Amino acid sequence: MNKKKSETLFQKAKEYIPGGVNSPVRAFKAVGGNPLFINKASGSRVWDVDGNEFIDYVSSWGPLICGHTHPQIVSAIKSVAERGTSFGAPTELEIELAQRVVDAVPSIETVRMVNSGTEAVMSALRLARGVTGRDKIVKFEGCYHGHGDSLLVKAGSGLMSLGIPDCPGIVADLAKNTLTLTFNDSEAVKELFDKQGNEIACLIVEPIAGNMGVVPPLPGFLQTLRDVTRKAGALLIFDEVISGFRVSLGGAQKLYGIQPDLTCLGKVIGGGLPVGAYGGRRDLMEQISPLGNVYQAGTLSGNPLAMAAGVEMLKLLSEDGVYENLESKSEQLCSGLKENVASLGIQAHFTRVGSMFSMFFTDSEVKDFPTVKTCDTELFGRYFNAMLEEGVYIAPSQFEAGFMTTVHTEDDIGQTITASKKALEKAKG
Ligand SMILES: *Cc1c(COP(=O)(O)O)cnc(C)c1O
Repeated sequence: MNKKKSETLFQKAKEYIPGGVNSPVRAFKAVGGNPLFINKASGSRVWDVDGNEFIDYVSSWGPLICGHTHPQIVSAIKSVAERGTSFGAPTELEIELAQRVVDAVPSIETVRMVNSGTEAVMSALRLARGVTGRDKIVKFEGCYHGHGDSLLVKAGSGLMSLGIPDCPGIVADLAKNTLTLTFNDSEAVKELFDKQGNEIACLIVEPIAGNMGVVPPLPGFLQTLRDVTRKAGALLIFDEVISGFRVSLGGAQKLYGIQPDLTCLGKVIGGGLPVGAYGGRRDLMEQISPLGNVYQAGTLSGNPLAMAAGVEMLKLLSEDGVYENLESKSEQLCSGLKENVASLGIQAHFTRVGSMFSMFFTDSEVKDFPTVKTCDTELFGRYFNAMLEEGVYIAPSQFEAGFMTTVHTEDDIGQTITASKKALEKAKG
């Protein structure tokens, strides 16, 4: 594969941009090699600056569930842009998107738009601390909630530890208020809340973990979280930045029938533009300024271009059969991948919820961060690079999800399965 232009651009980018990238996950650090620079995309395909074509399963890390440059979304953005890109005043489009979110997501009564998932989570945490008057928050190891200070804390192994900041720049006094548990460990959650429940402002969780690869919740886990938080007077926050509008129109909370107090959204909600949102019970959301004293603001929040893209995205996802179609195509792809792995005698564990899926190179059952870490990341690195050679673009890390879109065709899926078999053979050595 010719990567000449990408290599040249990467060298140049490094002169002006730290590490040559504006988000570290784009670097190919975990898999070896340098990132490809993308020139354009359409539907299920992306093209790099050297003209190489790929079937894409990154989907800009999740947002593009209807594929790249969907004509309906592109045309909405164009027509709105001609009327103005930002006013710093309310627009009708904001109501339309908010109404669609409230209609779709069971626990959301009102919703505030922001510009990223990180911002949504930071704001929801502030609100939780503001309304409860408590400082401590609980999260799970391996769950990512954006790069807000309180959440860049990962406890070491063990049932529970006081958060030790492992990212320089995070104030220890803040980090100590972040308690970290093991995902899917209901007993540890109960134990912590028995001891310290009355000090905890909120528990935040990705109801389907998507940032250590896809790790679904074990039966009963989410219900435990709901029960203990309610009993302790702490808020339950679902970070549905990936799962929202991805696993169903109502997200994971609809799929599993659990109502959180607050929900964070991002990725799909912006239709490929920068949008985040947080919403939930009206009595809580009314504590945010201008109604309440918990301050949160944004110069470009509810931006018309972003709102227009989000509205079109949710319209597309409200059509009949969308999620059934995503389900059956994702199932088809994953069973093909499973057959490949079995036929080559490679140890792998598959996880999938709807159109988000992972193939972990490990023989162990995957249910939390410690089990995810048993993966053979070197094998993954070789597999990743071999997949690129075969024309398939997957996320450059073993610990990321793959995403199916509504526009991937049977042909795309067949080609991917064939490519994957060749790549596995090569990677296996
Ligand atoms: C991507 C992600 C975020 C952060 O969103 P950004 O828009 O990148 O700030 C937060 N939570 C989860 C679950 C995510 O996957």
